[in-house]
Amino acid sequence: MRNVVIIGSGCAGLTAAIYAARANLQPLVIRGLEAGGQLTLTTLVENFPGFPKGVQGPELIELMQKQAKEFGAEFLEGDVTRADVSRRPFVLEVGKERLETRTLIIASGASAKLLGLESERKLLGHGVSTCATCDGYFYRGKEVVVVGGGDTAAEEALFLTRYATQVSIIHRRDQLRASKIMQDRLGRNEKIKFIWDSVVVEVLDVSKGEVTGVKLKNVKTGEETVKTCDGVFMGIGHSPNTTLFRGQVDMDEVGYLRTSSGSKTSVPGVFAAGDVQDRVYRQAITAAASGCMAAIDAEKFLEAEH
Ligand code: NAP
Repeated sequence: MRNVVIIGSGCAGLTAAIYAARANLQPLVIRGLEAGGQLTLTTLVENFPGFPKGVQGPELIELMQKQAKEFGAEFLEGDVTRADVSRRPFVLEVGKERLETRTLIIASGASAKLLGLESERKLLGHGVSTCATCDGYFYRGKEVVVVGGGDTAAEEALFLTRYATQVSIIHRRDQLRASKIMQDRLGRNEKIKFIWDSVVVEVLDVSKGEVTGVKLKNVKTGEETVKTCDGVFMGIGHSPNTTLFRGQVDMDEVGYLRTSSGSKTSVPGVFAAGDVQDRVYRQAITAAASGCMAAIDAEKFLEAEH
């Protein structure tokens, strides 16, 4: 029987692990399929306090994991395949392994949606990005495209105009889904261009190992064109990784876990941290902070039981 199991090994899960381990709770971290979380998908992180020259995302995660291990946190490779939080102890299955735990911290994150192209996957981190706040700075004086037509795409595009000379929004329809206020902001910004009714069919150029453009297809005419650019930002939304908890833990209509009084979910003893419960800030530092809160909440919950 475990005191604390943490699902997810991104910033939130690892910070929860550091705190829970220092509280002598011997936490177990289930690393998950996207081990390390979204920071492992980026390069230089310049806005995490304490690193005046920046830190590589994967390195930051490695350091956090090392820190958690120093205090006795244990790690399990794999993904949770089944979770039952309807009664305590909670039961989790990770492949063939069955775990029981008194408290659970869900820090399974949200995955940026990708188009699913082979070229996109190969150039991820080499010109293809899912986070303008993380990578926008590298496109000073360059041309970029943003894929999507919702608020995420609008926000990414507006942020990128701080650096890029031109930001083209590629949308599969001729109308944006983004809120009116965001649409107005886009319309007022001279650096923003729109490419309507178009989908990206390939990111160029895998053979060069960097982005040189995107091959587009007009969905109405079928015509294929190439738009040259130095970066491609995917702004087609994020999905919180909460499928396992549907019907068990309260979540909003998109699937983000609802938390109150810190990190508490609708199920006593189940806490949530990081992007899995945050559709607003989604930053490494806010994820880490909420991981800390979840560990403290779990510790208090266990204490109250004795
Ligand atoms: P969203 O509203 O679902 O928009 C996703 C956009 O990506 C849509 O325009 C969609 O096209 C397009 N898209 C989805 N899959 C695609 C694919 N495979 N290929 C090409 N295009 C694709 O998601 P979101 O923008 O992340 O917003 C999610 C929620 O968070 C919304 O409620 C939003 O208001 C909120 N949010 C708010 C803010 C803000 O207020 N500042 C910022 C970010 C997010 P279609 O339009 O054709 O479906």
